[in-house]
Amino acid sequence: MIILGIIIILLILLFGVIIKVNRDKLEKNKINEQLAEQERQAEEQRILKQQEQKQKEEEERAREKQEEENAKGIIYLTFDDGPSSDITPQILDILEQKNIKATFFVVHYNEKNAELVKKEVEKGHTVGLHGYSHSYSEVYSSQESCMENFKKIQDQVYQTTGKKSNIIRFLGGSSNTVSKKYSEGIMTELTRRVVEEGYRYFDWNVDSDDAGCAKNKDDVYNNVITGLKENRKNVVLMHDFSNNQKTVDALSAIIDYGLENGYVFRKITEETPMVTHKIYN
Ligand SMILES: [Zn+2]
Repeated sequence: MIILGIIIILLILLFGVIIKVNRDKLEKNKINEQLAEQERQAEEQRILKQQEQKQKEEEERAREKQEEENAKGIIYLTFDDGPSSDITPQILDILEQKNIKATFFVVHYNEKNAELVKKEVEKGHTVGLHGYSHSYSEVYSSQESCMENFKKIQDQVYQTTGKKSNIIRFLGGSSNTVSKKYSEGIMTELTRRVVEEGYRYFDWNVDSDDAGCAKNKDDVYNNVITGLKENRKNVVLMHDFSNNQKTVDALSAIIDYGLENGYVFRKITEETPMVTHKIYN
């Protein structure tokens, strides 16, 4: 009798435990389901946001394209040989005031000037590659040396900005004949090779001559505005190396001239068709 009583009590206890375990399990399942639902909703939100962003970008591109079609021509302002602590900030300020995007073909820079390269990207400009070294004798001593020179500056820009740039400009442009002194025929080979290796190279068709004969801001201004042509992509060569104040002083007037005469200003991107010179070496 006593034994039967104990067995019944044990069975009752056992049932109690089973019911409790099941209840806990159900509770846990419910929480898991709720969590899964929350995750699903967050993922849905993320996808929705992505789609909205994509649509916005597409609309912006379509608007820009329309603007380009209506324009007399496109102007791509390009600045080589920077960044420099005295000139580059002034150029960035003017571009921001005028709400214009441009392209900077940079050479090796120190830690302080890395901030300027960062700012170029932050402000929506394109950072292109000119070369880690700007020494013709070194860079054009061999194809490998030139390719290595692009790779090294590409790595530095990546370290600074987190962006890999494939947009390049050869020292002296692809039409340079200086390279002949160091390697016969090298530009013919290099221009093919860089494209094969995924780069896009850009020369220019408007020369401000600010690294040559232009003596003051009026020379820079006149060289640019007389070089502009309607119904084409005008790639303007300028420099933001140290002490080049004349280009800074001409820049606002150049932008005003372009806008008043129906041009639009663009930065070079991976989608921009290459503008290239004839090759002489
Ligand atoms: Zn240069």
